[in-house]
Order: sequence, then C-alpha cells, then structure tokens
Amino acid sequence: MNVDSIRDGIVIDHIAAGCGMKLYRLLGLENLEAPVAMITNVVSGKLGRKDIIKVDAAIDVDLDTIGYVDPGATVNIIRNGKLMEKKQIGMPEKLVNVLFCKNPRCITSCEQEIEHVFRLADSNRKEYRCVWCETKAAEL
Ligand SMILES: [Zn+2]
Repeated sequence: MNVDSIRDGIVIDHIAAGCGMKLYRLLGLENLEAPVAMITNVVSGKLGRKDIIKVDAAIDVDLDTIGYVDPGATVNIIRNGKLMEKKQIGMPEKLVNVLFCKNPRCITSCEQEIEHVFRLADSNRKEYRCVWCETKAAEL
C-alpha cells in the first residue's frame, strides 16, 4: 500500500503520539478488510510527535470515538484522490456505545438492549459519566 496515494479513504491526522493504537482498537479497524496504515511518532511542529492512521477505503468512522481519544485530531476525507473534507473533531458532548459502564447495578448491566450513553461532565478533566447511574467512566 502506497500510503500517499489513497484514492478513496480517510486519514486521521494529528493524533497525539501513543494514542494511535488505542484509536485503532476502539474504531474496530482490525476487523476491516481494507488496507490500514498506522504511522507512529511522526515529527510534527505543533505536537512534537504525532500518530497518523490511513484507511484505504471509503468507510464511515465514528467521529465521537476519535474525539474521545484525542479531541485535537483531524479527519481528512479523500475521494477520487483529492482532499474532499477536513474535519476538526473536538471533545464530544455525548458518547454512545463507546464506553461501557462498570457499575454492576447500572441498568445497562441488566438490560442488554439499553445503549451505553456517557455525557461529558467536565471538559477540563475530560470526565465522562454514565447518563443512567452517573458512574464516572474509567480511563481506557
Ligand atoms: Zn451506569
């Protein structure tokens, strides 16, 4: 795979160094049948070091998951070999089925149909809480 010649795909850029693998796992990219390139510790003026993920397929990625792992990441959508869209992510207000509540008494532990929803409780501390029982999300 020539990572510079993606025709239809996405490039997740400006990921804080060391967060690339975590994002790769959370996005379920290991289950993808398309070529995925992970480039770690790239020298970047803004961040010092950064990780980059390139996916050679026109897939939809969950921007909330990306924003949770690194709100400073950018997503470049590439179509027909051209940069079609560049998205700044930011910290999501709400996460659905990204984090899972660890409270055994939480309704999400008993009822499997209920979505795991976390809301941003404190953006400075990057703290998310379960909307059902208020339990703080554990660091991933
Ligand atoms: Zn809960």
